[in-house]
Amino acid sequence: MTTPDTELTVEQWKRRALRAEGAVRHALWMSPLTYNNETAEQMRDRFHQHIEATYPDLITRYAHQPIEVYKRVDACGCEDDGSDEYENDHSEPSDDDENVCIRSYLGQVCEHCEDEDGDGPEWKPYAVEWPCPPIRAINATPGNAEVLAAGLTIALEG
Ligand SMILES: [Zn+2]
Ligand SMILES: [Zn+2]
Repeated sequence: MTTPDTELTVEQWKRRALRAEGAVRHALWMSPLTYNNETAEQMRDRFHQHIEATYPDLITRYAHQPIEVYKRVDACGCEDDGSDEYENDHSEPSDDDENVCIRSYLGQVCEHCEDEDGDGPEWKPYAVEWPCPPIRAINATPGNAEVLAAGLTIALEG
């Protein structure tokens, strides 16, 4: 199931990459403020503040990454015919150390969001299907980066 606000356009991907590049560049170019003997800790805090203020969308995307969900081996229903193929498809461990069946892909859930009421997808009721609401919100506002870029251009010209 795909709705228009869940998939990024090429332009959105491009802007997202440029913003990530901007964040990395800031990290690489940053140096301690010598006039007040900035410590490593203060510099780290200053860096975090800058990133949080300038790239909140990137932080949200990082925290809300998708996890692919498959059926567990004890529930997939495949016949263990002893073949290499069966072995290959059933030797992937999940995060709770139960092997999963890569033939039975169920969908993607958010790494961060939880559904306390168990109203999530039937195959993982206490999780939230990805893209989750925060990611949908970011995807639905493609103008964010453009607004920032415009502000930067004006500042440079003025
Ligand atoms: Zn299976
Ligand atoms: Zn989420």
